[in-house]
Amino acid sequence: MTANDRLRDVTFVNGLQQCVHCGLCLPACPTYHVFHTEMDAPRGRLALMAAASEGRIPLEGALRTHLDRCLGCRACETVCPSGVPYGALLETARLAIEEERTQSPAERLVRFLALRALLPRVDRLRHVARLTRGLQQIGLLALARHLPPSLERLRHMVALLPPTISTQFTAPGVYPARGKRRGRVAFFVGCVQEALLAHVNAATVRVLQRNGYEVHVVPGQTCCGAVAYHVGDEATALELARRNVAAFAGEYEAIINNAGGCGAMLKEYAKLLGDDRAREFAARVQDVTEFLAEHLHRPPAKPVAGRVTYVDSCHLRHAQRVVEPPRRLLAAIPGLELVELSRPDHCCGSAGVYNILHPETAEAILDAKMADVAQTRATFVATTNTGCYLQLLHGVRRWALDARVVHVVELLDMAYEAQGETP
Ligand code: SF4
Ligand code: SF4
Repeated sequence: MTANDRLRDVTFVNGLQQCVHCGLCLPACPTYHVFHTEMDAPRGRLALMAAASEGRIPLEGALRTHLDRCLGCRACETVCPSGVPYGALLETARLAIEEERTQSPAERLVRFLALRALLPRVDRLRHVARLTRGLQQIGLLALARHLPPSLERLRHMVALLPPTISTQFTAPGVYPARGKRRGRVAFFVGCVQEALLAHVNAATVRVLQRNGYEVHVVPGQTCCGAVAYHVGDEATALELARRNVAAFAGEYEAIINNAGGCGAMLKEYAKLLGDDRAREFAARVQDVTEFLAEHLHRPPAKPVAGRVTYVDSCHLRHAQRVVEPPRRLLAAIPGLELVELSRPDHCCGSAGVYNILHPETAEAILDAKMADVAQTRATFVATTNTGCYLQLLHGVRRWALDARVVHVVELLDMAYEAQGETP
């Protein structure tokens, strides 16, 4: 499909026409709070997309600049009274821009390595994680802060790594149910999630086992394709989607994931691939908090002492509309006091690879989030997405807060361990 076909497609044009220019989305937009300009708010971005669709402005220039600055957090979609499908419109406009843009040889190489050679190969990512952990242990990564300004992005990527990379990987296989067997689920391990936050995957499997589920970590699964899709590489995203649909074809009650960004993409397969197998796959995808809130057959009995605040993953809250389940699970843990943020609907600045591509804006957005977190005096900062977890780790260090960043399932896992139920 050409860029013009995409921009003149009737679904795209109708979506744009749904905007009644009321401006109610502006206060919800984190980039509007940073830049204070109409073009860095949803209404302005929609006006730019409409202008491009009508051929009044080119795809380069203002359109690309202001869409690049958009986090894709979809907070605007949640508050829009007119039901503007902002996320879908943004994706279409980004795909059109990418089709017209000429990539430099260096950019093509980086994209090939990241999107085709690394992210789809979790076995390779595990090797990279082991190597990175080794470099961490001998102190070599700490030298990254002395990198020259020309390598600013690399320096920032190193700053986003967890202080200790876990190598507690979740290998393909069947993990048996503990206690009374309730069913059989499949688990999607992700790519960066498994490489950098393997301990969260391990905790997810344990918590599902403790609630009576046999957990299948199916071979052949791969990256969800969200990064490829968001940077405009539709062909790679579709190929990964087909591979995942084939890998999870077995009979599972649910296909569980623990990262809001991946889950949103997996649920999109129905629309992206448009066939019955993809629809059937997407209907079974659930975030682990969504699943456990309905299937917590064995609520934890022992307390985890502390104060917890919950930072919503935008793709869980705004894209998947999963808001209450993580909170219900936190409330089910004895001894834990849940304190809400004043702006739980605002992005933390992670947004896929946004914090690597736009570090200054991402840090301004992160600082607003951390100011909110600091107000809660929480000892645990809980979240449900890989990027948010890494960004919050960085934020807690940057703000020197005495708080531990965790996934919601890690707190459940801690509560079970406190009652002496380590498998
Ligand atoms: S809230 Fe919806 S209708 Fe109003 S300006 Fe924003 S996108 Fe348009
Ligand atoms: S997706 Fe997020 S950053 Fe982008 S316009 Fe909507 S609220 Fe603003």
